[in-house]
Amino acid sequence: MTDIFVRVAIDQPMSVLFDYRYSLAAEPVVGSLVEVPFGRRDVVGLICEVASTSGIPAAKLRDVTRICTDCPPLSAQWLLLAGFAAEYYQRGLGEVALPALPQALRDASRWNRLLAVEERFSMLAAGRAALPDALPTRAIALRRLAEATAAQESIGMSEARALHPKASATFVDWLALGWIQRAAPENERSAPEAAASPTGSSLLPQLTGEQREAVDAIASAQGFAPFLLHGVTGSGKTEVYLRALAALLVKRPDAQALVLVPEINLTPQFESAFRARFSALAAGSIVTMHSGLAEGERARNWLAAHTGSARIVLGTRLAILASMPDLAMIVVDEEHDPAYKQQEGLRYSARDLAVYRAKQLEIPVVLGSATPSLETWWQAEQGRYTRLTLARRAVADAALPAVRLIDLEEERQRGRASVEGLSGPLIAALKSRLERGEQSLVFLNRRGYAPILSCDACGWVAGCPRCSAYAVLHKPERALRCHHCGWESRIPKACPECGNVDIAPMGRGTQRVEETLASVVPGARVLRIDADSTRRKGSAQALFSDVHAGEVDILVGTQMIAKGHDFRRVTLVGVLNADTALFSHDFRASERLFAQLTQVSGRAGRAGLPGEVMIQTRYPRHALYLALSRQDYVGFANATLAERRDARLPPFVYQAMLRAEGRTLEAAIAFLEEAGAAFAPLPGADRVTVYDPVPLTIVKVFNVHRAQLLLESGSRAALQSALRAWQPVLRSLKGVLRWNVEVDPLDV
Ligand code: ADP
Ligand code: ZN
Ligand code: ZN
Repeated sequence: MTDIFVRVAIDQPMSVLFDYRYSLAAEPVVGSLVEVPFGRRDVVGLICEVASTSGIPAAKLRDVTRICTDCPPLSAQWLLLAGFAAEYYQRGLGEVALPALPQALRDASRWNRLLAVEERFSMLAAGRAALPDALPTRAIALRRLAEATAAQESIGMSEARALHPKASATFVDWLALGWIQRAAPENERSAPEAAASPTGSSLLPQLTGEQREAVDAIASAQGFAPFLLHGVTGSGKTEVYLRALAALLVKRPDAQALVLVPEINLTPQFESAFRARFSALAAGSIVTMHSGLAEGERARNWLAAHTGSARIVLGTRLAILASMPDLAMIVVDEEHDPAYKQQEGLRYSARDLAVYRAKQLEIPVVLGSATPSLETWWQAEQGRYTRLTLARRAVADAALPAVRLIDLEEERQRGRASVEGLSGPLIAALKSRLERGEQSLVFLNRRGYAPILSCDACGWVAGCPRCSAYAVLHKPERALRCHHCGWESRIPKACPECGNVDIAPMGRGTQRVEETLASVVPGARVLRIDADSTRRKGSAQALFSDVHAGEVDILVGTQMIAKGHDFRRVTLVGVLNADTALFSHDFRASERLFAQLTQVSGRAGRAGLPGEVMIQTRYPRHALYLALSRQDYVGFANATLAERRDARLPPFVYQAMLRAEGRTLEAAIAFLEEAGAAFAPLPGADRVTVYDPVPLTIVKVFNVHRAQLLLESGSRAALQSALRAWQPVLRSLKGVLRWNVEVDPLDV
């Protein structure tokens, strides 16, 4: 018998594959998961090659201990995608491929249960009647379990366990009491009347002419076809995605589609639109993939995509690496959103990988946005992406809102004082909305009560002891909190330096604005939505449904309220404190601000009532605001691109960033200097500019000092080859706690 060897990718910061001897009974197949000894541990790896020889001496070779036969191997296409991501983002294949798999696959002890059908239970009438009184009020987890079981047709064991750790025992009790019964497993549940067309409903909206053109262009595309769907807010981009997908599934019922959204938890309406539209597909044909899913559900959904039983995968950035053997179309909604960029581990752009994946598979990819990223816009300008434009709102009579700039300086000079940062015109507009029974939204990108707590007498300012940052005052939580490291303490009653009891909050966050609104707009029901008010799972959704139900008059919040929501009754949007972003040293700050303000403005006037946006500013003649008030994305984008071209900034050059974290700033800088010096002789480096190391704006976080080194080149290939050659050099350098290389960094 001849020997067999396999080369295995392992989740280690090394770009090599590891050789193992293979003598198990099942045939080794490329793309299969295996368990192998690595150092003193057993780890899960991925077979990338099967060979009859190995360069490693026989005595040093170890044996594969297990192979996963319960899950079909990953395809060559998928390995190529992971390989590209690894190559492009300067990582090892294993560092990309393995973290992309659900946890259950990376734990060999769970392999044999992977495809086991999970038990499901449904609530009976007797349970519905008895449960509410049978549970102690304080048994919160138990109540949640009962509510979740009652709320759906049936509940799976993994979901139940996520709600209550003792769900199994509880269900045994409830079964005995006749409160619940066993339900059919998910994949056997009868599909609701599989119709001939995947779009079951006959009540589809009549497409606008612009939508029709866009759908036709996407549906008739052949091969690799990148589209930029540039549609103003409320233009009905979702409807275009739905129709294009429907056309695809009619043509090819076995095809799969991947739809990426920036944050799935914030867009339940998006998910429900897909579920409603494709309700005629078999149950389980639409799955979601995001980090909020319980582990069991994540594994099941991943497997559904991998085995082809899921037709449509709706997910956040991590879904771009889902295995989908019949993938035939990709949609990236709100493609400009920074959330598509992963900021730790493998620092990839899901949007960019989506385009790569579409090219690899020769399929269409639709990038949708009201404010495309300048990278994407530039591709469209050059004709590399086909531009599809939706210039008008879809709902009849819904116009884009009128944008009004409120000059704070002028207000002051005319003696019309603001109340706690809210200008007179804004307060008046809020009151008139309240009288008319319409909703308003106040946007402010800063959470907490006040960003600074300080002492007038001695100049003391509350800071985080672990970070070079102020501690933010949180009034309802009665705490000072650091937004960088999570440090928390009680609010001091007096200045810790001089004993002065008159310490005062400076500046405004959402909590303070919420408080002010309640007093200046008497009678208004004010609701705050930000990361603090939505910490509990599911609470954001509950708060948003209050808004949709009309139980809120004024919604105040951070960018969480800006994204994607189709608020039907909001007619006024107020923007506070946007000016700070105008003068950021980050060259992308204005692009982000424009996108953010367009998004938040887009929440007004969506359903026919005229919408109005009021932006409070000290710079009412700033080009960004003027473009915004003309709803002129195109003008803004082209002017900003011209500036970037003159300044030789992306997308006209390519960048990479080396970041280092040290115990001291000196250590971090020294590491970067050494790394920079070692870069110069590398192949391709002569075409790359290496800047001086600089500390990050917030230099210290959690007692770690951070600095960065920017690299820039007009040639992506030169930058890539130099970065690749740099890796082993960087690994040999010492003196810092951590370092990482980010390709195409967003925050510079
Ligand atoms: P966008 O994502 O472009 O901001 P949405 O997809 O949220 O816009 O659509 C905005 C609103 O317009 C939604 O309420 C949607 O149901 C509605 N809509 C979309 N297309 C049409 C159409 N052709 N006719 C009528 N209403 C439409
Ligand atoms: Zn003091
Ligand atoms: Zn801190």
